[in-house]
Amino acid sequence: MSKKDAAVQQYTSDICLITTDAPITAHTHGGRAKCMQRLVRLDLPVPDTVALSFDEVHRIAAGDAPDVSRILEHFADDQLLCVRPSSEDPDWGGPGAVLNIGMNDARMKSLSDRIGARTAAQLYVRFIQSYSTHVARLDPDIFDDLDMDASDLVAQFLSAYEDEAEEPFPQARGDQLRGVLRSMARAWEGTTARLLRQAKGAPADAGLGLVVQSLVLGVGPGECGSGVLQLVSSDTGLPQVTGRYLSQGQGRDALHSGVGAQFLEKDARGPSLEERAPEAFEQLKVHAAVMRSKLREEMQCEFALDNGQVHILDGMRIQRTARAAVRIVVSLANDKIIPREEALMRIKPRALNELLHRQVDAAAERDVVGTGVAASPGAASGRIVFSAAEAQASAARGEACVLVRRETNPEDIRGMHAASAALTERGGITSHAAVIARGLGLPCVVGASSVRFQTRKKRLVTPDGREFREGDVITVDGSNGDILAGEAPMVEAALNDEFKTLMSWADDERDIGVRANADTPDDALTALNFKAEGIGLCRTEHMFFQADRLIAIREMIFADGPEDRAAALEQILPLQRDSIAELFRTMKGLPVCVRLFDPPLHEFLPTDRAGLRDLAEALNLPLSDVTRRVEALGEYNPMLGMRGVRLGITVPEIYEMQARAIFEATLLAAKDGAPVTPEVMIPLVSAKREVELVKTKIDAVAAAVRTESGMDFDYLLGVMVETPRAALRAEDIAPHCDFFSFGTNDLTQMTYGLSRDDAGRFMSPYVNQGVFPEDPFHILDREGVGELLKLGSERGRAARPDLKLSVCGEHGGSPESIDFCRQIGLDYVSCSPFRVPVARLAAAQLAIRDKIS
Ligand code: PEP
Ligand code: MG
Repeated sequence: MSKKDAAVQQYTSDICLITTDAPITAHTHGGRAKCMQRLVRLDLPVPDTVALSFDEVHRIAAGDAPDVSRILEHFADDQLLCVRPSSEDPDWGGPGAVLNIGMNDARMKSLSDRIGARTAAQLYVRFIQSYSTHVARLDPDIFDDLDMDASDLVAQFLSAYEDEAEEPFPQARGDQLRGVLRSMARAWEGTTARLLRQAKGAPADAGLGLVVQSLVLGVGPGECGSGVLQLVSSDTGLPQVTGRYLSQGQGRDALHSGVGAQFLEKDARGPSLEERAPEAFEQLKVHAAVMRSKLREEMQCEFALDNGQVHILDGMRIQRTARAAVRIVVSLANDKIIPREEALMRIKPRALNELLHRQVDAAAERDVVGTGVAASPGAASGRIVFSAAEAQASAARGEACVLVRRETNPEDIRGMHAASAALTERGGITSHAAVIARGLGLPCVVGASSVRFQTRKKRLVTPDGREFREGDVITVDGSNGDILAGEAPMVEAALNDEFKTLMSWADDERDIGVRANADTPDDALTALNFKAEGIGLCRTEHMFFQADRLIAIREMIFADGPEDRAAALEQILPLQRDSIAELFRTMKGLPVCVRLFDPPLHEFLPTDRAGLRDLAEALNLPLSDVTRRVEALGEYNPMLGMRGVRLGITVPEIYEMQARAIFEATLLAAKDGAPVTPEVMIPLVSAKREVELVKTKIDAVAAAVRTESGMDFDYLLGVMVETPRAALRAEDIAPHCDFFSFGTNDLTQMTYGLSRDDAGRFMSPYVNQGVFPEDPFHILDREGVGELLKLGSERGRAARPDLKLSVCGEHGGSPESIDFCRQIGLDYVSCSPFRVPVARLAAAQLAIRDKIS
């Protein structure tokens, strides 16, 4: 192509009539323009439409006069027009459509003969209103007091406009169009619009295209009207002709409540398009089915009837819940419209959260203390916190919390990541909190304005006068907008057949294993339900956090010498053995990796006076003794103190007891039909010698259990690589191990020198100022922590090529981190049970991406 031709092509493609071969792409003219071209190619009855490219619209926003003559040359002189936005991804939104461009005094008169004076006047008035608001930016209430039944309605509207705008209402269609294009172009560049679309994943420089279309009036003699139709339900994805039709209505009027819109299909509740215009209804269904199969997507078609004749104005990917999205892609793949790989690629892994979340048990009593907009489905309970930093601190303590804000802004996103649910006073279904929460799969209620949010005083006052303060537990039901007092009983998510089908397709594709972190048989059941391939981390200390078991651990800590300690451990052994055996049985022979005790011992001890007194009573010791012991166990920096293997080295009996519990549980589970090769994991290792010492003891316990029982069993021994030194010295450590599991929570903490528990306080400013691109506790830091993972893997495998490698920190469930884990050749990731499906799908998508490229 010559330079001149290229220039002409460039010029013509910036403003071009949508024909079968016009140079239009979603990247240059937006998704709507591209979709309309596809509809034209399918020979559907689409009115003439001109597309303006992103570049053109950008120039208009920057101040260039829109070249309306190049647009208008494609339309008859008296043709009314409408303009609609066309962003690259329709989900990024855009300014509202403007209809009836071209209405003026003369056009109203000429239309009056055909459609009646009153209807023509209403079209004109409608345009004046929308021009005033969107183009002249006048206050919409200037028309509030006008009498809509007055015979001089138009004159009243024109004079209200002229009084306020201090200029006559433009009469020339070209001037009107110029104004509309300019205002829509500028609206896109505004800060609010930018923030809103960025929250939906749009890049900062996302462009806007515009489409100018011949308006099908939707009003007039014969059957005229407009509506929308789709073939499946947006809530469930099940086949169901869905939509509304408004006779003598324009655009998307049919979707407004109280306008007298009709059903599409025959319906006992009222009149329908099917009865009113059966042929048009049949044609629309055929068009929608063609759109589904040829556009390879479940589409909503926006249509208009003109004297009974069907026009397709637009096609949009239907809005859908995550549940519907899964059903839709599975049905498209089953109908051979799209391949399975594409079905998998179309679902955002995190969107599965919406299917996976628990709901409040419908049979339970609900103590509703307030309501708002149900903004993101699922329900969760937690302690009230009033700031993002508190939410992060709470998450670091492992405590579920509900983030309560007047409204959220981008700085709250990290708090929302950390919270179990979010509740705001302000906002609607598309507000920041709602959009972000749906993205995260976080139960969320917004606009709960009946509740008084006294955020400074850190309390909520409900309409019935009850007060909820920071730390009080509430339940947020994001499925119906209720706020409930206390912790409501929940039911687990219902996983339908399509979800299971999609997941099984994902398992066929993925090439990295997915296990779950699970400490209790309940967690293990959830993990199994989500088809985890095993347990990648069982934190054994969590088995002792219940009150009745805590005392056993406390007695062990307070033991005076080896004999007393042995007696205390003797009591703990059966508890530990039974819990582990139950876990093995639940997992039915799938691998289970049991981590030896990790936390600092003082975590098991009380901190307040009442607790100390209770403990003194339980142990039959003087209060002063107990207080002294507790103080002696205190550490300046417990996370770097007597934790993990350090405990195993200094008090070896504890790990010996645990090893015995694991091996005896193995024998018990085998007897019950769940044979397992347990994986024993040593935490917080930093030196080879630690592993040598612990391994010797554990091997000895295994030998003893074999002799005592007369039964044989295998086990694997591995370490958590969660100190930088362990990663660096992986080559020394690996020869003593069967596996490494990277504990990226501690590894991140120690690599950055960043406290897991306190980082929330300054993470927001750090991320906002670009010091960290993301919170490294959420998204694995590939450059630093990732480098240690890579080094550790390479060095470990250099010493022991068959070394099994995995990640079991929080990062194991994040799609971005799984990408990295695959790249460095890890065998599996392990994450919390609810993130298992997300991880399975993310892993499948990564494998497919590699296959395609
Ligand atoms: C880790 O440190 O990444 C880990 C999984 O262990 P914990 O969170 O129990 O310290
Ligand atoms: Mg750790």
